[in-house]
Amino acid sequence: MKHTECCSICSKKTDNGIYLLRIYICSSCEKEMIDTSTDDPKYKFFVKKMNEAHRSIIHS
Ligand SMILES: [Zn+2]
Repeated sequence: MKHTECCSICSKKTDNGIYLLRIYICSSCEKEMIDTSTDDPKYKFFVKKMNEAHRSIIHS
């Protein structure tokens, strides 16, 4: 049975994602993160989103 979750980065519902540090990320966001270098401003956006998602897990 497939498990559908909401992506923590783009909020898209997908059953084609992974858990990264307990945060669910869809395959397209995962790929984008891998392709983004750490000095790219976009990388900071991903990190921010990950931190926000992680915080909401802790407080839930
Ligand atoms: Zn996504």
